[in-house]
Amino acid sequence: MDNYSGKSVFGGIAIGKIRIFQKGRQEIKNIKADNPKSEIERFNDARNKAIEGLQELYEKALKEAGEQSAAILQIHQLMLNDIDYTSSVEGIITKQNVTAEFAVAVTRDYFYEMFSSMEDEYMKARAADVKDVSERVIRILCNDHSKPADSKVPSIIIADDLAPSETVQLDKDLVLAFVTVHGSVNSHTAILAKTMGIPAITNVDIPLNRSINGRMAVVDGYNGIIYVDPDSKFVREMQTLQEKELYKRKLLLELKGKDNVTLDGKKMMLYANIGNTKDLASVTENDANGIGLFRSEFIYFEKNSLPTEEEQFEIYKTAAETLAGKRVVVRTLDIGADKQTDYFNLETEENPAMGLRAIRICLTNQEIFKTQLRALYRASDFGNISIMYPFITSVEEIKEIKKITEEVKKELDAQGVDYSHNIEEGIMIETPAAALISDKLAKEVDFFSIGTNDLSQYAMAIDRQNSKTDRFYDPHHLAVLRMIKMVVDNAHKNRIKAGICGELGADLSLTETFLKIGVDALSVSPAMILPLRDKIRKTDTSKLDLQYDL
Ligand code: PEP
Ligand code: MG
Repeated sequence: MDNYSGKSVFGGIAIGKIRIFQKGRQEIKNIKADNPKSEIERFNDARNKAIEGLQELYEKALKEAGEQSAAILQIHQLMLNDIDYTSSVEGIITKQNVTAEFAVAVTRDYFYEMFSSMEDEYMKARAADVKDVSERVIRILCNDHSKPADSKVPSIIIADDLAPSETVQLDKDLVLAFVTVHGSVNSHTAILAKTMGIPAITNVDIPLNRSINGRMAVVDGYNGIIYVDPDSKFVREMQTLQEKELYKRKLLLELKGKDNVTLDGKKMMLYANIGNTKDLASVTENDANGIGLFRSEFIYFEKNSLPTEEEQFEIYKTAAETLAGKRVVVRTLDIGADKQTDYFNLETEENPAMGLRAIRICLTNQEIFKTQLRALYRASDFGNISIMYPFITSVEEIKEIKKITEEVKKELDAQGVDYSHNIEEGIMIETPAAALISDKLAKEVDFFSIGTNDLSQYAMAIDRQNSKTDRFYDPHHLAVLRMIKMVVDNAHKNRIKAGICGELGADLSLTETFLKIGVDALSVSPAMILPLRDKIRKTDTSKLDLQYDL
């Protein structure tokens, strides 16, 4: 098996035979012309025919790939009407007494070089467009009506480069993947591949000779790799991956934009858990209702010293703006126990999971806490930010937090700094103490989010870091499930919402139970949003008995 790497344009797995896409590059034979006037007429006729052809392609692309993708074909039409372009061709014909096709070829090369040398990636990508439209005109001038040979078998298309018009002309059902030697990930061909949902990779140094045509290959669009002549074991592995991915894509198509609502009308919010702004794309891609847990400690781990207020503000602001009004719950710094970083100089503790961690560190070292709070309040002016405090065990801690937040807000007021006055502040319920006094805690905060990872470790006295205890760990332990129900009931009695943001939220075998007991929201890894939406939409809680003795 040979493999060739390039840049990923669109993820996905494709398995099939290779088909080399040969373009008929027109050889221009006639260079000298006698009558410049008739050459200019020939050029304008060909140009008009090319514009008509592009209009037909535009309508085809509009149906198959949508408005955004089809727009490039309108841009191509505009290029052919561009005054700089047409006067360049006409000028060359008149000054050099050459044929229209030669003048177009010279203009093509000139504009191609000009766009290619631009710094801006978007403009750089236009080089391929100008080449594409020019070659269309040249083909018409040379009376070349040939189209690249079509295959009737769906194949992996490998080409030196693909122009947008070539991409749309291909029958979508016969293309398993696109692999190109040249091309840019920002090109419209790339945009078309993404919109058509076809795995695509570019900048792959693969030989484009006949010997590769018809050979079996696997394209891994996620990692930008094509494997030629894979063995059967590898093909089977990739088929399994492909099936999973197809299932996910089916869900995506069917479920995007839909509510998380059961057959009997119970609604649940589905939020995403993230660790940094790189994860924001997958939140949107998976159509989350917002972010239910932004583990802010990762911002601290990515640095060698404490992140400044300004650095944090930019990160929270980006998250708030990207989510455009959807909820972004940022959890304040939760370090200690298994989450350590050198520059904090945390003392070695006998029992760190029960030591100085999370809110205990923030209440001990209030300057670090205040810096984060200032950044969060400031960012709240740019979207829908909520603040969540981890590892709470008592009402007194909340009172202490409130005192600090009031001080921070007063400071911001005195400095005339804007922040949202409707910001919700909630707590994580991740200690048995918090669960058992959740009736009292509910009176102090705007929402609860149950951290089942820690709640389980403390309830069962099982260190989540110690694999030796695995066989004693029961993820569905009645103690944990009962505490979840108790927390939800106490939240509702006090008219606040309770969600789950620990790993248990993504456990599809518990979704029905969570719906039945009225959990308001689940916050999970982005990839789990749509499988959960699917599960919720197929559930009828009125026909369900509670599976557990809650
Ligand atoms: C939890 O404890 O369930 C939780 C969500 O927080 P973390 O896993 O970050 O401790
Ligand atoms: Mg936790």
